[in-house]
Amino acid sequence: MIKNQLIIDGSQGEGGGQILRTSLSLATCLGQNIKIQNIRVGRKKSGLLRQHLTCVNASQAICNAIVTGAKLGSTEIEFTPKTIQGGHYRFAIGTAGSTNLVFQTILPALLKAEVASEVYFEGGTHNMNAPSFEFLMHGFLPILKKMNLLVDCELLRYGFYPKGGGQWIAKIQPCSQGHRLKLLQRGDLLSEKAMALIAHIPLDVSERELKKVAQKLNWSKTQLIEKPVQSLGSGNLLSLQLQFEEITTLFETVGQRGISAEKVANQAVKKLIRYRYSNAVVDEYLADQLLLPMALNQGGSFITHALSQHTKTNIDVINQFIQGAISSQFIATDTVKIKINPLNAML
Ligand code: ATP
Repeated sequence: MIKNQLIIDGSQGEGGGQILRTSLSLATCLGQNIKIQNIRVGRKKSGLLRQHLTCVNASQAICNAIVTGAKLGSTEIEFTPKTIQGGHYRFAIGTAGSTNLVFQTILPALLKAEVASEVYFEGGTHNMNAPSFEFLMHGFLPILKKMNLLVDCELLRYGFYPKGGGQWIAKIQPCSQGHRLKLLQRGDLLSEKAMALIAHIPLDVSERELKKVAQKLNWSKTQLIEKPVQSLGSGNLLSLQLQFEEITTLFETVGQRGISAEKVANQAVKKLIRYRYSNAVVDEYLADQLLLPMALNQGGSFITHALSQHTKTNIDVINQFIQGAISSQFIATDTVKIKINPLNAML
């Protein structure tokens, strides 16, 4: 049966690329034909940038979709998916745009494929305003594993903005029966550490970042890791990691020219402190990234911070595809419980 086309407004709520990516994932997984209008129209450079276009092309490739409007700068696309095909794929962004966001776009569909997939990515691996490769490895994927969604990733080369050139591979196992996820408690704190990645930048930058973190959080030298890495261009990322029994949470800042090492450290520490002294189990970023895999599997619930505009918008978009899939409940200051219904109960 041919479904009616679903029209999604890309300028709703937060108005960013997430609306496009979430819509592509849902359209592919649900076999829903869509039109997305006003894509990123409020942004300085509106429409599809290379990262977004790669998300459209990658989604098209994995389900042989019929697509119109897939070109740079486009503010409207139509996407009619066909059957999801697992297998070997290669997606290169061509700029330092985030490959991790391309991965997160096609992941839900490849988890539903009949066969395993191996996907090679090229572009940015440690970007501002996107999950870093570390965030995926230590924050996102371990939670997916709790849902019986199994993915292995291997980083071949780091890719920082503006040079890019990062390379990595994801191996995705199909899953016919995921598990319901409940993240209502963190459990005991097992470890706290700070890692400063640095490529082609004087080492005193990462040393100063770590020194500032140690000062602010009263951490000892054994908790500080300086990691020079190989990359085509220069780059730096500070990653603070809190490992609890039930979840590992990362607070990251990408170093930028013109922003002091101390400021980079302060920004990451500020995010950590907000989390550490709240009741949130899932941090602000992971919250919006877990919604889709949970909604497309067995659902569940988790406690997070007051909802960011990103998370609110992501919930709204998911609910447009699967009515009533996600609800949120205010619990206390900066504490919200999110409830996600299992997909099979909603269709
Ligand atoms: P835009 O359209 O606004 O230019 P975009 O397409 O790059 O943006 P967004 O819509 O802003 O993307 O989505 C960014 C994604 O990256 C979100 O899923 C968010 O959770 C994630 N993210 C942003 N910053 C971080 C961070 N510091 N750590 C982990 N994840 C992050």
